[in-house]
Amino acid sequence: MSYLFDAPKVYSIPVKGEAAEYPVHRIFCVGRNYAAHAAEMGVEVDREAPFYFTKTPSATLASGSTLPYPPGTRNFHYEMELVIVLGAPVFRCSVEEGRKAIYAYGCGLDMTRRDLQQAAKDKQRPWDLGKDVEGSAVFAPLTRAAAFGAVADQRIHLEVNGTVKQDATLTELIHGVGEVVADLSKFYHLHPGDVIMTGTPAGVGPVVAGDVITGGIDGLDPIKLILGPAE
Ligand code: MN
Repeated sequence: MSYLFDAPKVYSIPVKGEAAEYPVHRIFCVGRNYAAHAAEMGVEVDREAPFYFTKTPSATLASGSTLPYPPGTRNFHYEMELVIVLGAPVFRCSVEEGRKAIYAYGCGLDMTRRDLQQAAKDKQRPWDLGKDVEGSAVFAPLTRAAAFGAVADQRIHLEVNGTVKQDATLTELIHGVGEVVADLSKFYHLHPGDVIMTGTPAGVGPVVAGDVITGGIDGLDPIKLILGPAE
């Protein structure tokens, strides 16, 4: 097959201890998966089922990168998240099967044009302009599931210029990782290449050019992002 233009690049995430990288097929993101974050956004948590939005795979950016302050916003926010990636196909799976389908875990940042997201919410429009921002899916190197162990009370935290802004534990996740995979598998034939950002704890806020964002989750490689000037 020949193409009229360059075929899309495959975006990928490094995996600790592996020479090959994890190819990104789709990026699903869970909204409001920590009660304290939902409260700070002024909304109720839906405990019955998670809800989702997506980012384009080309939004993938490696930890340690410098991201130019994006166009169209005056309120660009960080969201520190636990990332899970799948290593087996699942469709209409159980919570246990969903958990077993997880290949690796990692630290991620769901960078958000909060002003555009809020405007979309107010007008009952889709969130794409707020959430599917170029370079807004930042991933640290992944850790194989067996090496990470069970999701329990690991600390999840984020700092801006060294000042702690988000500080919680994974016990605060409303919908656990197996539950999220099982729920999403009701709507999609999930398979290796599918990446899920599991939501952010309380303490989100804005960053400006020159800020350095760092974050971590116990047992996983830390993450870093530098905000550059607008282009
Ligand atoms: Mn998020």
